[in-house]
Amino acid sequence: MTSEQSVPVVIIGAGQAGLSVAYYLRRFELVSGRDFVMFDRGPDAGGAWQHRWDSLRLGTAHHVNDLPGMAELGISFDTADRSLPAKDVVADYYRRYEEHFELHVERPVSVTSVFNRRADLVVASTSPERGERETSARLLVNATGTWGAPFVPYYPGAHTFAGRHVHTAQYRSAQEFAGQRVVVVGGGTSAIGFLLELENVAAELTWASRRPIDWVHTEELDLEGASAAVAAQDEAARSGRALPSIVSGTGVPVSRRIAAGIERGLLVTRPIFTAIEPNGVRWSDGSFTEADAIIWASGFRPELRHLAPLKLREKAGGLTVGAGASWTDPRIFLAGYGPQASTIGANRAGRMIARQIVALL
Ligand code: FAD
Repeated sequence: MTSEQSVPVVIIGAGQAGLSVAYYLRRFELVSGRDFVMFDRGPDAGGAWQHRWDSLRLGTAHHVNDLPGMAELGISFDTADRSLPAKDVVADYYRRYEEHFELHVERPVSVTSVFNRRADLVVASTSPERGERETSARLLVNATGTWGAPFVPYYPGAHTFAGRHVHTAQYRSAQEFAGQRVVVVGGGTSAIGFLLELENVAAELTWASRRPIDWVHTEELDLEGASAAVAAQDEAARSGRALPSIVSGTGVPVSRRIAAGIERGLLVTRPIFTAIEPNGVRWSDGSFTEADAIIWASGFRPELRHLAPLKLREKAGGLTVGAGASWTDPRIFLAGYGPQASTIGANRAGRMIARQIVALL
């Protein structure tokens, strides 16, 4: 197949990171709207947020930062209606952002691989409207987030479990677990959110975590303030190692709702089980808990499968990335990777990466 189109820059992903890069590319005015194309496989605006469960609200635990320039429209997440699902609030916000700044996103377009063909970087994609096609680019911004790469740790016997394994990415609502015995795995705010929702819905609830919870006594965590966690992510990215879990560096904020949950004995973890059996989980002391479902709030990994032909992955398990740029291939940028994996980090990625792109073009 020959490339249908040749452009200076392709951006894959129109979440907070991709939109922020696009905004700065336009704002610096050195790149016109025609000089980059943005592909997103989602059906609508909203990045990964559009796929999150209905009961999730903005600011449940972490601060959500506004996209750069949004103040111009007089819209802010800080004043958004917190009674509405986060998925709808964010989708509406991103949609208005795209319209106002004329950031044209081609969707749904799914990038299947990125590879070299002689001196060209080729982005292969597929979409219901245009089928399979190839786009040549001088530079690539990968802003694909993590939602498409859920992580479930291995435990012996996992495949023998007769109940349901449900990852955060598949969670829809507490009602699905009505009357069931549920084990929730994970040490972050998603696990806690599920436990609070399931409290009066599930028949039995057990919380298991690989690490003791590091409670932080603040209502809402601003990920920018979590400098040690951001530094640990940056260090891992610069040395090409697999990224550490964010929550291991930030701790978990104790909102009033969470404090009350701890107080009444709901939010108490057990050290993770050692094995999974057909009817439940086995603990290290030999005791057994019956379960109908295991909810894996065990996190995500960067979604990078489509970049495999470029061979960017290091033996240490990660990509070598500094200031949003691949150190293995200077044509590739990774927005939202490692230290940029928060809404404030994604915003910063935009400015940092757009500057480098403008210098290269
Ligand atoms: P995403 O929003 O995931 O966007 C990536 C986009 O890439 C998606 O639209 C996807 O469709 C597209 N894409 C992926 N692969 C392809 C492909 N192959 N082809 C085409 N398109 C593709 N951060 C905060 O700062 N505050 C919070 O309160 C907060 N809450 C969170 C709650 C949950 C449950 C989770 C999982 C994360 C949360 N985060 C939060 C982290 C937050 O989601 C991110 O920091 C930020 O929104 C991610 O933006 P992004 O653009 O990197 O990724």
